[in-house]
Amino acid sequence: MNTEVAKYRNYILRNYNNLPQLNALSDDEREAIGVVGQVLPFKTNNYVVEQLIDWNNVPNDPIYTLTFPRREMLSEENYKAVKELMDRNDEAGLKKKVFDIRMQLNPNPAGQESNVPSLEDIKLHGMQHKYRETVLFFPSQGQTCHAYCTFCFRWPQFSGMNELKFAMKEANLLHEYLLQHPNVTDVLFTGGDPLTAKTNIMAAYIEPMLTKEFSHIRNIRIGTKTLAYWPYRFLTDKDADDILRLFEKVRKAGKHLAFQAHFNHPVELSTDAVKNAIQRIKNTGTQIRTQSPLLRHINDRPQIWADMWEEQVSQGLIPYYMFVARDTGSKAFFEVPLERAWNVFREAYRSVSGICRTVRGPSMSANPGKVHILGISEVRGEKVFVLSFIQCRNPDLVGIPFYAKYDPHASWFDELEPAFGDKEFFFQRNNLLMTNGEEANYSWE
Ligand SMILES: *Cc1c(COP(=O)(O)O)cnc(C)c1O
Ligand code: SF4
Repeated sequence: MNTEVAKYRNYILRNYNNLPQLNALSDDEREAIGVVGQVLPFKTNNYVVEQLIDWNNVPNDPIYTLTFPRREMLSEENYKAVKELMDRNDEAGLKKKVFDIRMQLNPNPAGQESNVPSLEDIKLHGMQHKYRETVLFFPSQGQTCHAYCTFCFRWPQFSGMNELKFAMKEANLLHEYLLQHPNVTDVLFTGGDPLTAKTNIMAAYIEPMLTKEFSHIRNIRIGTKTLAYWPYRFLTDKDADDILRLFEKVRKAGKHLAFQAHFNHPVELSTDAVKNAIQRIKNTGTQIRTQSPLLRHINDRPQIWADMWEEQVSQGLIPYYMFVARDTGSKAFFEVPLERAWNVFREAYRSVSGICRTVRGPSMSANPGKVHILGISEVRGEKVFVLSFIQCRNPDLVGIPFYAKYDPHASWFDELEPAFGDKEFFFQRNNLLMTNGEEANYSWE
């Protein structure tokens, strides 16, 4: 391989002004980075800046919008308030204002804190166990990313809000929990981006699970945006070969290893670096499944999705999920009404061959489960959204169609009401979300 060793350099609030590329911006756009960046997490890097962003197209370029703060990501009122405190050098006032704004922006959407499980009396803050078969694990060394997405719902983790930080150092607790839950088949490492952690850290979590006692763990999954933001992690970083060797070990132990790789736009699949990285990972026997939210200003056209799925399949990736963007952070800037989300999905889906149609969506990760928007229909003269659970706290409810009143403006599950004048959705009756099986020690709201 003739890839040069790439040295990772990041750009954050302190040093972004050194970027020569920013000459392509107006003064107002440059100011907006500094102001909005006080509230939303801001970090980008040399790969993103040099190889993904088209600087002839800023600020509208999708990858610029994905990592650089833009003025419209805050309300006009909040923008002005932050700017004024900065101009006055009022540090204490600024800190308080920033905290208040973050609290307005729903920093912990969909009740994620209610999914934290316990082991005896210890709350396992580095884990979430919401769906019977899959445990999410947040390695504390992976609570960052190679760059930050401006829409990210995990943003409190990067902003020093410790009480919201899901982080756990103790691999032992993870392993102990898995041993006590034989119905769990999947461990999904997530973050941040777990592949910001060094290989030896990942090995400490993963290798013990390759022994016989963990034979119930069939699938090890890694939720990561490293292919899109820093493919050199698998090419020329110091422990690049080591991480590939770790993947091989998992395969040799007979387990399925899968990336849940996060790609938002086809340009992220276009560089030599990402193409080489994908092939190296695939050569270890690892599957790469892909997912992304649907985001206005970034990927809200069917053609973008069709191109992205086709390119993924060409490179041997498996399209997996299209999500509706969560109701957090700068949601107002990124949101797409559910009706449009369904149309974008459908138009893209119908234009690609069956081999790309492994993808499912649009899906909302709401409190009861992953809610799939199957479509809009008319039942008994009423226009309705047809929905069903792809995943649910109670697995018995998966795949049962249910109906919400049509609402052209709704952009998240909370805004929907039951159809036909019903007071509740079917899963709200008789505590249906509770399971009565042996796994009933999940935590519920
Ligand atoms: C999406 C998700 C999973 C994984 O779901 P799959 O459909 O199996 O990919 C697991 N836990 C939580 C909390 C999730 O949101
Ligand atoms: S890579 Fe994932 S966790 Fe990191 S900022 Fe983007 S969406 Fe958030």
